[in-house]
Amino acid sequence: MKFKFSLLTFFLSTFLIITSCVSVQVSDNTVSTTVSEVKKPKNIILLVGDGMGLSEVSAAIFYKNGKPNFERFSTIGLSKTSSASDLITDSAAGATVFSAGVKTYNGAIGVNKDTIAVPNIVEQLSKRGLSTGIIATSSIQHATPASFYAHVKSRRMYEEITEFAPNSGVNFFAGGGLKFFNDRTDGKDLLAEMKNKGYKITTDKLPKTPSDKNELILLAEDAMPKMSEGRGDFLPNATKLALEKLSKNEKGFFLMVEGSQIDWGGHANDADYLIGELLDFDKTLGVALDFAKENGETLVIVTADHETGGFTLSAEGSNYNQIKPTFSTPGHSATMVPVFAEGPGASKFNGIFESTEVYHKMMALFNK
Ligand code: MG
Ligand code: ZN
Repeated sequence: MKFKFSLLTFFLSTFLIITSCVSVQVSDNTVSTTVSEVKKPKNIILLVGDGMGLSEVSAAIFYKNGKPNFERFSTIGLSKTSSASDLITDSAAGATVFSAGVKTYNGAIGVNKDTIAVPNIVEQLSKRGLSTGIIATSSIQHATPASFYAHVKSRRMYEEITEFAPNSGVNFFAGGGLKFFNDRTDGKDLLAEMKNKGYKITTDKLPKTPSDKNELILLAEDAMPKMSEGRGDFLPNATKLALEKLSKNEKGFFLMVEGSQIDWGGHANDADYLIGELLDFDKTLGVALDFAKENGETLVIVTADHETGGFTLSAEGSNYNQIKPTFSTPGHSATMVPVFAEGPGASKFNGIFESTEVYHKMMALFNK
């Protein structure tokens, strides 16, 4: 009886020890999961390939010599791009989702569907003392970059968009669009105003090192040249320069970089144009990823506002060993677009979500 009792006690206590070990194990796992989930970035680089759907990204696999930088991302999601007014978005509504987190009508720059200005990510972060930058291969007044500093009811209001630049708080601008500053129908000299606001203005070539002042780099009257017309490494080099400047801020930074002309190759149904622009964008991803890897506190997000051209990598007739890039429309399409993320907070970008979520996820990660 005594033996039986102690045997029972032995089994019971062994059982208790095992279960308590298991529960300790479980709670340890829970703790470590929570910790990795709250790891937040100090800096975010958002790279937008305008008009870049999955077929466009796939072109990097088949047309790049070597491994595309797209393949360096650990997290991939899909974004639903429809706007508030249309099933198929344009680039203005498609950028306002990223800059301000609202679905709006096609053509809207930083305003909601009632044409009311919505605070954008750049304004909110610079108020908190973070540095901000905007780079594009279009003019900086074009729909995508404009949505990050201006609030106007129509994307075509280039001169009005430019008037937001002097008080935007943006620390680094690079792209085209000089004529909207100094060759205006209202005769205003906005370059002088930018200078008064403390900007260093560059209009000849990309500086080698960043200035301590805010930078306005405008290397074309309107859009930057196409890759095939000699744009060279403007996009990767401007990105490098911006990162060197913005990363000096202890509080962190937000940088938006747009491969603007992937979309224009799509509209033109010109596969060589599209692929040239896409490979330039891929090279720029390499700059962002190398910086982030070294820095350790930077989240890199790559996505698109929509797909353009209904682009696909068809077979050349019945020859399945030959790709014939093909378009189905001169306009945009409704297909979902990929979202790539790498760095602290990247796992938040898994899954299928509305395009506005890109903004909300970024803001949640910046809210420490
Ligand atoms: Mg654009
Ligand atoms: Zn477009």
